[in-house]
Amino acid sequence: MGWKDWLFVRDKECFICRRPGALGYLCPSCSRTLKTWEQEFRPCRRCGRLLCKEYAGELCPQCGEKLPPFRLARAVGPYRGELRRAILEFKYRGRRSLALPLGYLLSRVVAEEPLYGRPRAVIPVPLSSQRLKERAFNQSALLARELSRLLGIKLLEEVLVKVRHTPPQAGLDRLARLQNLQRSFEVVESSRIVGLDVLLVDDVLTTGITAAACTVALLEGGARSVAVVTVATSLF
Ligand SMILES: [Zn+2]
Ligand SMILES: [Zn+2]
Repeated sequence: MGWKDWLFVRDKECFICRRPGALGYLCPSCSRTLKTWEQEFRPCRRCGRLLCKEYAGELCPQCGEKLPPFRLARAVGPYRGELRRAILEFKYRGRRSLALPLGYLLSRVVAEEPLYGRPRAVIPVPLSSQRLKERAFNQSALLARELSRLLGIKLLEEVLVKVRHTPPQAGLDRLARLQNLQRSFEVVESSRIVGLDVLLVDDVLTTGITAAACTVALLEGGARSVAVVTVATSLF
């Protein structure tokens, strides 16, 4: 690290509380707060959704019944508190600069979980062209760019596309969500992912249905395996 890095690293403000003195975007206090869930919950080994510690199994009930097509999913933490607020600001109030700290948190999740292995490409969950027009940017693509830069893994933004516009998933039950998303994602340039272990990026994982639908498309397009990383996940 050069002298400039020292200066700027020390003066960087925490992206949550805005106080100066953050290392890697978070001050030590907010870094600890984000991890408080670890006292109560642990991730389902497969889908990463959070189970209370008293729950006996390694897998959540849903994965116990049927494993999802992705190899694993993990998140920075539960979709609540500061993390939820940050995602809402980022996604709906257009604070694009949050892609940096959130991307940094994603990179830590991938670096700290050995089950990720060494993915060869980072791919964002795409939006339909209609939704992209409404929102003006794809939050997952911004996160994927940061993640790709921080981990030094190739970014493939145009390979997975959403071919059908679907109503928002929120408010639909599980079956309706599944039907809503079936065959709505497609791989357009399979030659670029054939045989690769890919890392799929999204902001939130709730039912896992979006991640599963993207995974099926990527596997059909020739990817060898798909792992998922999101900023937040749901409590089971
Ligand atoms: Zn802070
Ligand atoms: Zn699970």
